Amino acid sequence: MVKRGHFVASNLTLHVFNKSMSSPDAPVIGSPALSGCDRDLVRFGFENTYARLPERFYARLDPTPVAAPRLVKVNVELALSLGLDPEALASVRGVEILAGNSVAEGAEPLALAYAGHQFGHFVPQLGDGRANLLGEVMGRDGVRYDLQLKGSGPTPFSRRGDGRAALGPVLREYIVSEAMAALGVPTTRALAAVTTGERVLRETDLPGAVLTRVAASHLRVGTFQYFAAQGDTEGTRKLADYAIARHYPEAAQATHPYRALLDGVIFRQAHLLAQWMLLGFIHGVMNTDNTSISGETIDYGPCAFMEAYDPAMVFSSIDRQGRYSYSNQANAAHWNLTRLAEALLPVLVQEAGSEEAGLASAYEALAAFGPQFEAARDAGLRRKLGLFTEREGDAGLAQDLLERMAANHADFTLTFRRLCDAGAGPEGDRGVRALFADPGAYDSWATGWRRRLEEESVSGRERTAMMRMASPAFIPRNHMVEAALDAAVERQDFQRFEELLDVVSRPYEDRPELARYATPARPEECVSQTFCGT
Ligand code: AMP
Ligand code: MG
Repeated sequence: MVKRGHFVASNLTLHVFNKSMSSPDAPVIGSPALSGCDRDLVRFGFENTYARLPERFYARLDPTPVAAPRLVKVNVELALSLGLDPEALASVRGVEILAGNSVAEGAEPLALAYAGHQFGHFVPQLGDGRANLLGEVMGRDGVRYDLQLKGSGPTPFSRRGDGRAALGPVLREYIVSEAMAALGVPTTRALAAVTTGERVLRETDLPGAVLTRVAASHLRVGTFQYFAAQGDTEGTRKLADYAIARHYPEAAQATHPYRALLDGVIFRQAHLLAQWMLLGFIHGVMNTDNTSISGETIDYGPCAFMEAYDPAMVFSSIDRQGRYSYSNQANAAHWNLTRLAEALLPVLVQEAGSEEAGLASAYEALAAFGPQFEAARDAGLRRKLGLFTEREGDAGLAQDLLERMAANHADFTLTFRRLCDAGAGPEGDRGVRALFADPGAYDSWATGWRRRLEEESVSGRERTAMMRMASPAFIPRNHMVEAALDAAVERQDFQRFEELLDVVSRPYEDRPELARYATPARPEECVSQTFCGT
């Protein structure tokens, strides 16, 4: 099943953005109940296992303070799930910490070193150029999470960048990562957003912001590449041991633990990619530095959900070759995992006993990706079609529908959501066929589909209920995201951002009052490209 998110309750806003954000002297807004808050109230209980790794894994440095930090949002449910007090986070002292103006007790701020292939070109040193890992906290689920400030100032890895983030991309990452979590997709999350009271120069002059990101870890394929490229096998091994202990503890018991690690990452990435595809999600920048070892979606840049189904869809303005187009995403992931296998090769060879055996082990691991991805995608497609048994021809039936959707510019999310109603009986067909330029293209497909449904034993009503858990009503539609970002950036109006967060936090529920969020952009509202804007 497509898993439901754990944190689907609505997010509370503790403070409202203040319009006088450019005044460096203006105080941080705090609710009256919190004023005079005890400095020691903000307790993170940080642990710092990454800081215990050798010094060459990172650069120690504090975030760079900003002129006038103001809170935009604290994610209350997420804070509670991490054992953090949301009110303390929203206090004066809390906001100072979230802006990087003050270092929390127990934090050991670091910028992580990593490398990466960007659009196929290897860069031996990337690293956190605008982020500080503050430390790790234990979630109530028993999982260790990184808390990272993104946009928190220059680091030794900044290259030519300013170390900062603009408000728009910070809010985009907030909305889309929280939507992914609610949709049940493994993802980094947003704990808070603050504005800095400073401007950042991009294509234009924009308000600056800092995002507090929560991740199972910030280990990337590119982190392994960093050590491998330097011939630092000891570093690679230490990193692999750390990744096993943190994400794949069962691999430690395997006969070949490093092979088991590679298998584990491949398995999780195959399932992650299947989930993206089943939701019409396009990441946009699937570079190896944006491919997480824990199997989470990470680094939301020019990402978006498709509207009209088009397998060749590309959103990123810099992806001119379509390298990271929708239909190429699984290939791109496989390519990235091949780079991981390459980086792990020295330890795989040592473990296997010979170069030949190590290579064979890497190839064997990589060969599992395709079948795992396809099995997960096909199982998901069956659920979307209301097929809860498996028959030969199911994949073909799904493919046929997708091809007709492409030819008829049918909205991906809405077609599958309305198909849930059609799953109860032909009365539901009307809504689906209306989405096809030629409604007859749906009708002729539906005839075959209904024949297949007769082989299922569930009632129409049960089928509809199950289908609805596989096909959301609400995704963060790009024009809605853009409108929310524009209002925030241009008019310091965060109402639409709040509304959209509420909409995407319960994606599988029918909420007729929110119908305008469930429908595709009108032609004049269409946003066909998103920019890095980083
Ligand atoms: P991304 O495209 O966000 O995955 O970033 C790729 C690399 O560029 C990473 O090493 C980032 O830390 C770095 N980077 C992105 N934006 C900035 C910035 N404004 N200042 C410094 N480094 C940046
Ligand atoms: Mg990145």
